[in-house]
Amino acid sequence: MAAIGRFQKGDDIFHAKVVDGKLYKLKGDVFGSPSFVKRAIPHKGVKTLIPVEPTKIIAVGLNYADHAQEANHPIPKQPLFWLKAPTSLIPDGGKIDMPFPSHRNDYEAEMAIVIGRRVRNVTPAAAARYIFGYTAAQDISDRTIQQGESQWARAKSFDTYTPVGPYVETKVDPHDLTIQLFQNGQLRQNSHTSQLIFNCFHLVSFVSTNMTLMPGDLILTGTPGGIGPINSGDKLEVRIGDMAPLCNTVK
Ligand code: MG
Repeated sequence: MAAIGRFQKGDDIFHAKVVDGKLYKLKGDVFGSPSFVKRAIPHKGVKTLIPVEPTKIIAVGLNYADHAQEANHPIPKQPLFWLKAPTSLIPDGGKIDMPFPSHRNDYEAEMAIVIGRRVRNVTPAAAARYIFGYTAAQDISDRTIQQGESQWARAKSFDTYTPVGPYVETKVDPHDLTIQLFQNGQLRQNSHTSQLIFNCFHLVSFVSTNMTLMPGDLILTGTPGGIGPINSGDKLEVRIGDMAPLCNTVK
């Protein structure tokens, strides 16, 4: 497998492999041992959905040193995480809708881990077996609310505050990827996943010692330095390695 997306044509919702603008429909469980229909259908006219339907979204904070510094927080001694509501997800092309536009609301480009198998108490060395793949995401944050509260779930769980996708890349070294955010074509965040303080395998292991991870669950791995405010009408684009970009606009 390589780039796997989830799509809708009419009433038909399906997973498919994406190759050169064509979709090869998947047969069977996407997290099992699926096969693919040999005849491709054109991507055009097919709606791209969020690539998976997680039972929960775990967001990791302060996992790049330059971001911890700009946020005025010490680097955590162990991964710092909270939960984002699955209802905050929107797909590639979806619009971010700020409930409090007078607040400071920020973009945060992040790489997301997609869990492939139910897992509890796994070691970092064995964690890769439970990972389905990786995708681009944003952890949009109402900074005004976040800075006034000790719990961050509310500031980061508004509907539309977790863009994700467009596809899940299943064959990629997660620690050798550039991660960039463009705001209206301007490069705002520019880092590399080798800079993660706690790497993907450590994160899956750590989270799994605290709660069971289910197929489709997402772990957002944290944002690099360069965060900044979003404005109505902005075009935001997250680029991770050679993956298809995640593009969203602000309503
Ligand atoms: Mg974040």
